Amino acid sequence: MTDTSTPSGGAPHDGLRHAIAGVSVADLAARHGTPLYVYDAECIRRRCRDLTRPRGDDAWDTVRFAQKACSNLAVLDLVRREGVMVDAVSTGEIRRALAAGYAPHAGRRGGDGLPPAHPIVYTADIFDRPSLDEVARHGIHVNCGSADMLEQLAERMPGAEVTLRVNPGFGHGHSQKTNTGGEGSKHGIWHESIPDVMRRAEAAGLMVTGLHMHIGSGTDLAHLAEVAGTLERVARDIGRSLDTVSAGGGLPVPYRPGEVHADLGGYVALWNATRRRLEEAFGHRIRLEIEPGRYLTAESGYLVTEVRAVKMQGSRKYLLVDAGFNTLARPVMYGAYHPMTLCPGPGSPSAARSREEVAVGGPLCESGDIFTQTDGGFVATRDLPSARVGDLLVIEIAGAYGFVMASNYNSKPLPAEVLVDGGRDRLVRARQTPEDLFRGETV
Ligand SMILES: *Cc1c(COP(=O)(O)O)cnc(C)c1O
Repeated sequence: MTDTSTPSGGAPHDGLRHAIAGVSVADLAARHGTPLYVYDAECIRRRCRDLTRPRGDDAWDTVRFAQKACSNLAVLDLVRREGVMVDAVSTGEIRRALAAGYAPHAGRRGGDGLPPAHPIVYTADIFDRPSLDEVARHGIHVNCGSADMLEQLAERMPGAEVTLRVNPGFGHGHSQKTNTGGEGSKHGIWHESIPDVMRRAEAAGLMVTGLHMHIGSGTDLAHLAEVAGTLERVARDIGRSLDTVSAGGGLPVPYRPGEVHADLGGYVALWNATRRRLEEAFGHRIRLEIEPGRYLTAESGYLVTEVRAVKMQGSRKYLLVDAGFNTLARPVMYGAYHPMTLCPGPGSPSAARSREEVAVGGPLCESGDIFTQTDGGFVATRDLPSARVGDLLVIEIAGAYGFVMASNYNSKPLPAEVLVDGGRDRLVRARQTPEDLFRGETV
């Protein structure tokens, strides 16, 4: 099932990109330097509206952004203005949500009989001590992935409402590392232990109002749909206190040429039917949530790099750019594929170029620092317009799990982030300086 009515963030066919959301790539690089993350605000809004707008009779009541995918404050502010709530997996992410203008907890019940949506939910399998303090200080709603969290929470927030994250016994992701269900996953409360855990929650004086599952990231809708059946069964084990169910995240995004967007209409219809049956069984309304990360921001993001060396290693040609796996880790972590385009540098001919097969790597002192690698770390090549030093290489669909996974490895500063909106670019995170690298260190 496909939905071709939704334009994908597909790269231009000739492999050349001169602008991002109407702003010249060369100007972006000149103004802000490289490597540089650039986000297209309108693309994020479009993805939010794909999910916040009803499809016929079917609608998600709450779209909750899993901010770990792209947690810049400007992006959080943008999705908040689209009516999207937010998920936080750490103290730092709670702070980000508050700084971006989210209220710590829900207001009063609306006239529609639905329970109010929690603006921020803390979802984790543990409380580290600072996160427990932060949750208690602000009254943040918690989604518990381990039963031990119940007593820890009850001690600090007696009588609190909680959500349980259930491991349905199976999972699926684009990579084994992003599979978050089944015996091979540390996440969530095992589905068969829910009756025991309900007794623990009751003994601790907590009220279980939410049920949540998230089986993995970058899976497909067939796997995601399997969750609905298990969730419905577990919901009946929990019983009438339940007022919110969350389908989790994991919505896929087309990265490779020829891939298309999944049929989200069929997906929301399936979950809506599950919700209706539970409302029938419990005699009250149930809020239906979805919790995407990747889907909302992946296609909005571009990593702009500069080609700094072009060389032959035997018969293979390498382009070396000024970004590495310190800047974008998905290829080295998962063998992930990102489309790439070229923007001719200043003084470089911008007319049609011949094409060639090249491997693309970065500056790090580690042979795994290759953007064109397959799962298992094998170096592959990409068919790109021929490049020379000074050209800009744009790594596309990099708006999810991009900047947020960047590191200071090899003492490289974190890159800058820019948001393009209405034809204007705005720096939303300054590039780190060399001094930032050793702040707090002493000799
Ligand atoms: C990572 C995560 C998500 C988002 O996953 P995507 O594949 O980016 O949609 C949603 N919920 C939880 C609990 C997560 O950990």
